[in-house]
Amino acid sequence: MTFNRDALPPVADVLARLNLAASRLNGSGYAQVRCPIHSEDNPSLSIHMQRGNWRCFACGEAGGDVLELYRRTRDISFIQAARELGAWEGR
Ligand SMILES: [Zn+2]
Repeated sequence: MTFNRDALPPVADVLARLNLAASRLNGSGYAQVRCPIHSEDNPSLSIHMQRGNWRCFACGEAGGDVLELYRRTRDISFIQAARELGAWEGR
């Protein structure tokens, strides 16, 4: 039973599953979305659409990949998040 990072869906697919609409990319490959961790009306969270690293400039939360954003948004364990995203191999 292992985590397979290569099996993670594309960042855009994970954002869609979280009902987060991404802005157009800036020149560095980042898009803005409304932060799902704190409640807000204007997008403060910046996420790299290829690498998946993200940071919210309003509440300061940050993570290194899209799985971490998914896990934090759904408030579930790492393994559960990896399972739901199809990146957990084994039981
Ligand atoms: Zn935030």
